[in-house]
Amino acid sequence: MQLSGHIKMMNTSLEGGSAKYSLPIGESLIDMNAVVGKHIELKYNDVILCANCGVRTKKSWSGGYCFPCTQVLARCDLCIMRPETCHYSEGTCREPQWGLNYCFQPTIIYLANTSKPKVGITNKKRVYSRWIEQGAISALPIIEAKSRLDSGKIEVALKQFVADKTNWRNMLKNEVEQSSLSSLKETLLTEIAATVKETEAIVLSDDEVNISYPVLKYPTKVVSLNFDKTPIITGILEGIKGQYLLLDSGVLNIRKFSSYHLTISS
Ligand SMILES: [Zn+2]
Repeated sequence: MQLSGHIKMMNTSLEGGSAKYSLPIGESLIDMNAVVGKHIELKYNDVILCANCGVRTKKSWSGGYCFPCTQVLARCDLCIMRPETCHYSEGTCREPQWGLNYCFQPTIIYLANTSKPKVGITNKKRVYSRWIEQGAISALPIIEAKSRLDSGKIEVALKQFVADKTNWRNMLKNEVEQSSLSSLKETLLTEIAATVKETEAIVLSDDEVNISYPVLKYPTKVVSLNFDKTPIITGILEGIKGQYLLLDSGVLNIRKFSSYHLTISS
């Protein structure tokens, strides 16, 4: 197999409890699970094109954009990282039509075991993809909110009691301080009852979901690979977790290199 084109972050889905990955490259999709255990070469061709305007950019910002686009696109605004600061109702959304579609959909607040228990939010339609992108080995949806703003308020309340960040090195080494998400849920719901009521959110009664990853061998030491320093990255693909390819030569964060033009052979 040899394909060339601009890449995007990997598409993820859950099939029978296992994470499935495909890598968009140009107009094609590479079934990455099928490459695990094989030799792979990823060559950077020194071209990055903005995923929005198509202009050549020296650096990929905010997951694949040129710098000017990050200043005008709503999806690159700070409120995307911090939903509790959604300012749509103030009439200041950079792209109101986009904001209306993106920010006013059922949003799930979940707990996940990534490196240790954490809280996160995601669009209801994307729960499995989101958990896999974060490398969660188990996850539990706990609350459904009406908007990203409401989910942000709930997440802020939860952050006083549980982490919202992942130690990505521990996640990649599969060193997880796992705990029972259902017992944690009960404790947390008591703590944040007032916020749930205020936002008129719904408490869910879903079961915990376990996720296994296509990994033959987890790294014991995490070495980051980077196309800007090493344009040709080769090795045996020993596994995939989160948005990372785990090669025997190091780990590669695919998300970080969105919009890079690559030639991939295996
Ligand atoms: Zn652009």
